[in-house]
Amino acid sequence: MPPTLLQSKLLRSEKPNLEAEVEIPTWQQEIKTAFRSADEICQFLNIDLAEMEISALAAKQFPLFVPRGFARRMESGNPDDPLLRQVLNVVQEEVLDAQFKVDPVGESQAGLAPGLLQKYAGRALMVVTGACAVHCRYCFRRHFPYQAFQEIGAEDGRWQPALAAVRSDESIHEVLLSGGDPLVLTDDLLTELITLLENIPHLKRLRIHTRLPIVIPARVTEALVNRLASSRLAVWFVVHANHGNELGTEVLQSLDRLVTAGIPVLNQTVLLKGVNDSVEALEELFTKLADASVLPYYLHQLDRVAGAAHFEVPIETGKKLIKQLRIRLPGYAVPRYVQERPGELAKTILA
Ligand SMILES: *Cc1c(COP(=O)(O)O)cnc(C)c1O
Ligand code: SF4
Repeated sequence: MPPTLLQSKLLRSEKPNLEAEVEIPTWQQEIKTAFRSADEICQFLNIDLAEMEISALAAKQFPLFVPRGFARRMESGNPDDPLLRQVLNVVQEEVLDAQFKVDPVGESQAGLAPGLLQKYAGRALMVVTGACAVHCRYCFRRHFPYQAFQEIGAEDGRWQPALAAVRSDESIHEVLLSGGDPLVLTDDLLTELITLLENIPHLKRLRIHTRLPIVIPARVTEALVNRLASSRLAVWFVVHANHGNELGTEVLQSLDRLVTAGIPVLNQTVLLKGVNDSVEALEELFTKLADASVLPYYLHQLDRVAGAAHFEVPIETGKKLIKQLRIRLPGYAVPRYVQERPGELAKTILA
């Protein structure tokens, strides 16, 4: 049997604590000290800003936001770094294309209550915050009307309409916490929310959709893991990594804390041109995930959101990539290639 969390804590504290000398920033410090402009991050990476075709307009619409720990996983001096491409505001975002819309997946039509969306049977998605720990340029939520949802918190009763809607619908067995990123809430606030959800008798499962364990691995605190591991609900984690370089040592440790506590961890990836649209890049990513006991769940076709056209990979190319991956990887390490289509009863499986 693996040691319990308390046992591992005791085991750890018996070792000479060399790391205590080094200041490890807390996850909140990582958010406070994040890069907030192309200028800052390019300087950090020794990249000439003039080389990069930065768009001030794009940053005005959706500001750059990149924690330093994530930037440290980028290659210094490489303007084509696959992690940098995901976060840098570039002029291609200004290209207008009628196929790329503000609400590509029909979310504004799916509201059950303020802060609660339902598109699929049995599962409701709760938008607990508008904030994220990193701003991904391809994200369909870049235009989301977060004013209606922002800073929802138990203390002012703003969770109540969403919780009341879940409570009154016995067909809902699973709540997905999403956002934004639900793990930007403090442990205290999350604990409060989880307790409220546990008190709804027909709920069986809690799913947490988050990029935080990848972006700021220190967010996977012992208090959070213990709270989730002791829930009466079956807790499922869905993290979001797009490239093997995102999975540094600290990230693998944070995923291991979840896995060791018995929490199943799945990963979703967005297929992105210039980031991971090669069989080698995807093979490396899915292999690293499988080695970390994290299941590659979905490979998403890009949602056609305004400003993200330059990230699109043709579906035919995606299907070929999956076909090649099936030859190279164990079956469980090849994710389902899916697309979100408005009005459908499930995500559409492309391959
Ligand atoms: C993707 C999504 C889900 C979850 O779908 P699964 O196929 O169960 O992972 C639930 N609700 C909404 C609104 C979604 O977009
Ligand atoms: S963390 Fe997720 S929700 Fe937030 S910007 Fe990135 S892809 Fe979008």
